[in-house]
Amino acid sequence: MSRVYNFSAGPSCLPESVLQEAAAEMLDYQGSGQSVMEMSHRSKNYEPIIQDAEARVRRLMSIPDNYAILFLQGGASTQFAMVPMNLKKLGKAAYVDTGIWSDKAIKEAKKYLTVDVIASSKDHGYTFIPEVNRIEGDYDYGYITLNNTIVGTKWATLPEMGKRSDGTDIPLVADASSCILSEPVDISRFGIFFAGAQKNLAPAGVTLVIIRKDLITEFPDPLTPTMLDYKTHADSDSMYNTPPCYTIYIMGKVLAWIEANGGAQGMLKRNQEKADLFYSYLDSSDFYKSPVEKNSRSLMNIPFVTRETDPDKVAALNKRFVAEAAAAGLVNLAGHRLVGGMRASIYNAMPIEGVKALIAFMDKFAAENR
Ligand SMILES: *Cc1c(COP(=O)(O)O)cnc(C)c1O
Repeated sequence: MSRVYNFSAGPSCLPESVLQEAAAEMLDYQGSGQSVMEMSHRSKNYEPIIQDAEARVRRLMSIPDNYAILFLQGGASTQFAMVPMNLKKLGKAAYVDTGIWSDKAIKEAKKYLTVDVIASSKDHGYTFIPEVNRIEGDYDYGYITLNNTIVGTKWATLPEMGKRSDGTDIPLVADASSCILSEPVDISRFGIFFAGAQKNLAPAGVTLVIIRKDLITEFPDPLTPTMLDYKTHADSDSMYNTPPCYTIYIMGKVLAWIEANGGAQGMLKRNQEKADLFYSYLDSSDFYKSPVEKNSRSLMNIPFVTRETDPDKVAALNKRFVAEAAAAGLVNLAGHRLVGGMRASIYNAMPIEGVKALIAFMDKFAAENR
């Protein structure tokens, strides 16, 4: 068997030990005589699995008691609708447009309320996070995309949240799909912190939603579908209907792997080391470069381009890069179809050896194509 280094933006590589454990337990989970895939979600065998995953999330992220942890379906994209549907009271929200995912969130939110785009780097190809020191006004919430998977930027400093004219606090909502548990965060800064799991936590199929309990209220709109109401899931410990059982089981194993490797702080050290190595390679190269401004660079998704300027040559060169890298066991390096170039996603599970192998390949490719 030979495994590749998988730089996919998502679904993405998982720790190998997690896959091995899952394989060993595939036919008989801990003497139950069943696979976790086959279990009732309400069985004595399964209940500890979801409870363990929740306890690990709470521990790893130091989540205070006044926050609920929900395991939902529909991907991060469903949160683009659930957030405005559930938080709408005044009818207006502030969004920061930092990339294609925030743009999608904005378009979806506009169906339900008035959206003020308070800052955007769209006109600059989203190559930096615009400066937003403070979010203030009569907003139901402020919304940011913490790490921008496609363009490779992340928020270095969170905006301060001001008060509404009635003196109440504006909650901050963050899409953390591509950076959850890649470094420590202070959850108390957020009202809702959500992430599709398929980048840093699990296979596809579950969305983790961490929500301050006072934001879970009765249906703001009586037409909100039951499944899109946070209260439905909070009241039933994510067991209102069948949760994505197997994905949650794998998430539990990934979380245990994170704990065994130093927790969020350990992930930051590991990720910083990989990202530093890769960015310093790009910055010192006369063949490649990073399109992203230094103070906005992501630890997880690193887009890069060659310095080739002839538009006729660029596409062919990129295509050759991606194909030759794949032949060398370095897969999924094509940039997102909307931005082009290349992109290396180096989530928690990517070992530093993968980044070193990529740099060695890039050196060889540069020498052959100069
Ligand atoms: C991948 C991603 C999404 C979309 O997630 P789905 O689970 O496919 O809906 C949304 N936001 C960000 C930041 C992402 O990286």
